[in-house]
Amino acid sequence: MSLIVQKYGGTSIGTIEKIGNVADKVAACVKNGNKVVVAVSAMSGETNKLIALANEMSENKHARELDVLVSTGEQVTIALLTMALLDRGCDARSYTGAQIRMVTDDAHGKARIKNIQCENMKADLDANRVVVVAGFQGVDENGNITTLGRGGSDTTAVAIAAALEADECQIYTDVSGVYTTDPRVEPKARKLDRITFEEMLEMASLGSKVLQIRAVEFAGKYNVPLRVLSSFEEGEGTLIALEDDGVEQALISGIAFNRDEAQLTIKGVPDQPGVASKILGPVTDANIEIDMIVQNTSEDGFTDFTFTVHRNDYQAAHDLLKGVCADLGAKKLKGDDAIVKISLVGVGMRSHAGIANTMFATLANENINILMISTSEIKISVVVDEKYLELGVRSLHEAFGLDSDGHLKNL
Ligand code: ASP
Ligand code: MG
Repeated sequence: MSLIVQKYGGTSIGTIEKIGNVADKVAACVKNGNKVVVAVSAMSGETNKLIALANEMSENKHARELDVLVSTGEQVTIALLTMALLDRGCDARSYTGAQIRMVTDDAHGKARIKNIQCENMKADLDANRVVVVAGFQGVDENGNITTLGRGGSDTTAVAIAAALEADECQIYTDVSGVYTTDPRVEPKARKLDRITFEEMLEMASLGSKVLQIRAVEFAGKYNVPLRVLSSFEEGEGTLIALEDDGVEQALISGIAFNRDEAQLTIKGVPDQPGVASKILGPVTDANIEIDMIVQNTSEDGFTDFTFTVHRNDYQAAHDLLKGVCADLGAKKLKGDDAIVKISLVGVGMRSHAGIANTMFATLANENINILMISTSEIKISVVVDEKYLELGVRSLHEAFGLDSDGHLKNL
């Protein structure tokens, strides 16, 4: 017998009929002898509707009240799903975040979970009852309702799985698992059977939006095996877990990309202590997130400095840097907001040399110019002109043997 936490996203429970299907799945899991906790999102589109209502009501940011409002979406689905389970002869009880004392900090709209009271849930599970919990919501220490940020039901499920020491946390969604890359860009993308927490974090933070990033961090921290699978098709999905020592690692697990990048370069900055901080300081002070940073070796006491930001922040960063350039006596400010980042991700990189070179040679072969390069232990990223995104991803996908019909090219 296993203890399983399942999470169903908005598309999986978007209609009464779909909620019925989910109830069938949960009931089947119980019939197979498992104890089950289910965390659910709101019906698809509902959270957006609630946010729109708030915007219609008021131009002001009422963070506390917004959480009271948006948390109602999940209260609807826990009740409906529990009714459906009871109708199927499957004993069940629904709980809001407050009822299971999902205690968070008081950062409304992006609260972090501090602890969960497990007694109620455990008593229900011992009585062979399914526990249905509202995702996305908690309460702060003073009992105010909080929410965990968009997509936060994933984190609810993982946190409950960690607290109850569940055998597995299953995230049911509308895709059949995690893919080697976005199938809309490379139709030959393959579903992965397994990926490590670390790799998934890189894939997720680089724009593969299958799971809330915080949920993956949480799962990695507490070593909760996480499985992403489809509510609509049969299949094993993708298991996200620690590295499996017994299995030979693929060189590369996937190719992530990010279309929303922009690049800024300051040319001819005097190469002196403090320059990097003078350039980046005003940008971070304006709450603009900086991604890649490159400073060149200097020539004649001058250097070039390049970094990337989200495309939405490009104009603001550019305006800030104009002032910085004048202050520093830099020669020129250049920018480009039509760039993308493509990254190879894989723990196999740690033990294999030559992957970077294969990546660069593959891109060169397609005449794709690399604008920036950055590497970490399990990732190599390049920035290229946005017109090369599809070509770049596809050629790398093939070169590293990721195609569904593929094999490794001679590396
Ligand atoms: N309903 C919330 C949202 O739409 C939380 C979730 O779906 O995970 O973001
Ligand atoms: Mg979601």
